[in-house]
Amino acid sequence: MTDLGMRADKRANHPADDSAPIPFSLTPAAEALAQQGRMAPARIAGNLVVIPCEPWCTVDHVEQDARFAEDIYHASPRISLSAPSMTGTTEIVEAWVSQYPFSRSDTAPYLAFDAAGTGEVAELGRDVALAFADQFEAHARRLRDMTASLPDGPARPASTGQ
Ligand SMILES: [Zn+2]
Repeated sequence: MTDLGMRADKRANHPADDSAPIPFSLTPAAEALAQQGRMAPARIAGNLVVIPCEPWCTVDHVEQDARFAEDIYHASPRISLSAPSMTGTTEIVEAWVSQYPFSRSDTAPYLAFDAAGTGEVAELGRDVALAFADQFEAHARRLRDMTASLPDGPARPASTGQ
């Protein structure tokens, strides 16, 4: 058997060696996550790697196709409120949990919050998010109280479109 033949045989016996994800982590926080056991494949700068991933994260980190590790983000499913408007409905008060685990500045998860559905996203910590949730409940109660002065029944459609 020639050298060339031996190399070809070796490749045929181990076809996954070149494409298998390699373990990859950067920060102490990432190491801690790895010890909890949730790992996910990711593509960074074209390389297939494995990174720690949060239990609430639903991002496909391979599809995310990050150029740099700092661009990798975890994100939960989003919630929003469908509010009646002149043109039908508007999605407002959209929120989801987000985290940039390899950021050079802040790697902690936060509540991403788009109040008016404009794409302007505030980053809220737990205390601020809970304080707003309390205000939101109080606002809903005031909204309900206001309906007491309205006549019974659907005198107007939910949206006029006019
Ligand atoms: Zn993730």
